[in-house]
Amino acid sequence: MADRCSWCGVGVGLDDGWRAFEPAGARRAAFCRLEHVFPWTFRGAHWDAGDFDEPPELGEGPPRCSQCDAELGEVRIVLVRHRDDARIADAFCSTEHMADWAKSGGRWRSA
Ligand SMILES: [Zn+2]
Ligand SMILES: [Zn+2]
Repeated sequence: MADRCSWCGVGVGLDDGWRAFEPAGARRAAFCRLEHVFPWTFRGAHWDAGDFDEPPELGEGPPRCSQCDAELGEVRIVLVRHRDDARIADAFCSTEHMADWAKSGGRWRSA
């Protein structure tokens, strides 16, 4: 097990789950399910210390917030979905927007 879920503590394998990073603060978190991002954020978002350790080609995520489309500056949250060997990155202007996005179902939201 590479990580533990920052919300429920369950082990999260490298080929599964979600990793969140705040590169400017050298902070990270892990989640077993997207649904655990929202309660984690609203109970205080307890980050762990840690650097961005995803493949460098992901960079620091897309240039705009996936939730509100704001252009991102130095402070950004990057959320990386692990699915087998695939890595899919989204980025957010704040932890709150990551949580709102996660709550509404992420990339697969219906509306
Ligand atoms: Zn969890
Ligand atoms: Zn935003």
